[in-house]
Amino acid sequence: MSQVMNLNRKTAPSATLTRNTRFEVYTERQFDRISPLQRLPEEQRFAMRVVANVLPFRVNRYVIDELIDWERVPEDPVFQLTFPQPGMLDEADFNRMAAVLRKGGERAEVRAVAREIQAGLNPHPAGQQEMNVPQLNGEPLPGVQHKYRETVLFFPSQGQVCHSYCTFCFRWAQFVGDKSLRFAANEASNLHQYLAQHPAISDLLVTGGDPMVMKTAHLKAYLEPLLRPELEHVQTVRIGTKSLTFWPQRFVTDEDADDLLRLLEKLVAGGKHVALMAHFNHWREMDTPVVREAIRRIRATGAQIRTQAPLLRHINDDAGVWARMWRTQVHLGLIPYYMFVERDTGARQYFEVPLVRAWEVYREAMQRVSGLGRTARGPSMSAAPGKVEIQGVAEIQGEKVFVLRFIQGRNPDWVQQPFFAKYDPEATWLDQLEPAFGENKFFFEDEFNAMQDKPVTVRRIA
Ligand SMILES: *Cc1c(COP(=O)(O)O)cnc(C)c1O
Repeated sequence: MSQVMNLNRKTAPSATLTRNTRFEVYTERQFDRISPLQRLPEEQRFAMRVVANVLPFRVNRYVIDELIDWERVPEDPVFQLTFPQPGMLDEADFNRMAAVLRKGGERAEVRAVAREIQAGLNPHPAGQQEMNVPQLNGEPLPGVQHKYRETVLFFPSQGQVCHSYCTFCFRWAQFVGDKSLRFAANEASNLHQYLAQHPAISDLLVTGGDPMVMKTAHLKAYLEPLLRPELEHVQTVRIGTKSLTFWPQRFVTDEDADDLLRLLEKLVAGGKHVALMAHFNHWREMDTPVVREAIRRIRATGAQIRTQAPLLRHINDDAGVWARMWRTQVHLGLIPYYMFVERDTGARQYFEVPLVRAWEVYREAMQRVSGLGRTARGPSMSAAPGKVEIQGVAEIQGEKVFVLRFIQGRNPDWVQQPFFAKYDPEATWLDQLEPAFGENKFFFEDEFNAMQDKPVTVRRIA
């Protein structure tokens, strides 16, 4: 039988593909309606509610029914990925929120306490809000970030939620209700104008939230104009998404699923490299019939699927998990792209692992896969100056050091330049590292500090 699918024909999906076709979502207010939760002890459910009042919580029925193995809760990786855990807040913050909830505090009080706790969790890591907003005709252009010369990030306003939330999300702050924290764009035309004015931009990365929560009609308004001659230099269209994990039905049974596939096809036919940047944390997310079908359909459009994920304690802090994940991806025709270090925000203390541990997991996992699985770069820290990769630990003239390099830099000259930090077995982020060999600063520091003193314009970034 031919595996090639005719996109114009509505295929009758098999029974397993139609188990969850209606999107049903639960937030902290519907905790009591999530039936498998009821078998957990009352104390644990209360603790989850405490955390869910500070950090975003949103899960859907497909995740509950088909991804979480409830026999293995709380250790189950998808449960850890989506459900709040007591250890995600430090003790003082936890007790504070618990006390408010226990005495039946008013919603306004719960919110006020939540705001204070949230403010202490570094909601905007890596200077995201201040440093990367470009200008269009002399005005700041909201909803767009231009940090690296070739690539522009776009946050379409309709795509600033997700089908479920990840407990470790580094963009968590935009989901907890404070609108001022959102990067939102109202207008496709501003984006297109900006791109047209900057021929150095080869890549557009549409992100969120999750752009795949948008109706196809909205996506089309953003993406189809990229086929115009004045935007020919934008060769690559990336769409960052976790929908293959949280709602693969988006590509299979949703009302406008076929229209979406046709849109991807059209972009490919028009000469664009279309890449879904799929976020997978664990091979278990790629195991259901519906995600397999979604992957098959996306690939049939000519779009690529590249994968990326952070390394997280409680979820995938294990070389075997990564090796199996990368092998599964290669098997399904997906291309491993990045392994990230958990960022310095939100519930980081619950998820973070020392940099040296991240490197060990990366190295061991790499050793267990064939060359085609070794395309993921990392472990990489998305820090304010750029993406810094831990290349390894070495001993140079008696000094133990981390060997680092920029895989992306605010200044392109920094890219691929190796540099060295003192070995520190506990460090979990770039700002905890010190230059090796008695130097008092890293090679990029003066230049980076100078960039921060002024508003960042495109000229500055370019
Ligand atoms: C990672 C990243 C990109 C994309 O970088 P590539 O090296 O092209 O994958 C673009 N913008 C920001 C802010 C990023 O963090």
